[in-house]
Amino acid sequence: MSSWSEIAREVERRAEGRCEYCRMHQSLQGATFHVEHIVPRCLGGLSELENLAWACPSCNLHKSNRVEAEVPGSSETVSLFNPRTDKWDENFCWDDFCITGRTPVGQATVAALSLNHERRIKVRQAEAMFGLFPPEASGTLSLPTLSSPVVSAPCVWYDRARSQRQARATFFGGTR
Ligand SMILES: [Zn+2]
Repeated sequence: MSSWSEIAREVERRAEGRCEYCRMHQSLQGATFHVEHIVPRCLGGLSELENLAWACPSCNLHKSNRVEAEVPGSSETVSLFNPRTDKWDENFCWDDFCITGRTPVGQATVAALSLNHERRIKVRQAEAMFGLFPPEASGTLSLPTLSSPVVSAPCVWYDRARSQRQARATFFGGTR
């Protein structure tokens, strides 16, 4: 792999078209997502796959060249979520259309990248109407099988039909 366009294609393919921070799908967006340097170049980050992530413009702009942020409600500063070394499902979960941080890293990242901005909620509601929300669990999560039922689900899970009903109610003022 040599050229930047080849690297960018591989980053997009690996992310399956979703922002690796907020999990937004590119297909409903007018803008092409960005190849983001997790450790920015100004801090010595390399343009290699292990340091690159697929990010929507909003996450990319909010993150800027930061690598750490304060945990809300505390004076603790932690590393921001790193899509290459941290697992999304361990650091975040869905609470209806909002992202909840499950760890200090998750909480700091939700705040720093403004992951629950009103506009992002609208996008998730629109995604639900097209069957794109909630995102499939990331490949790093081992999904429960029929032979190993989940005893206690750590997050709020719900079916797509319910998401779509909620989204339609929000957009059109009632279920149809
Ligand atoms: Zn994003």
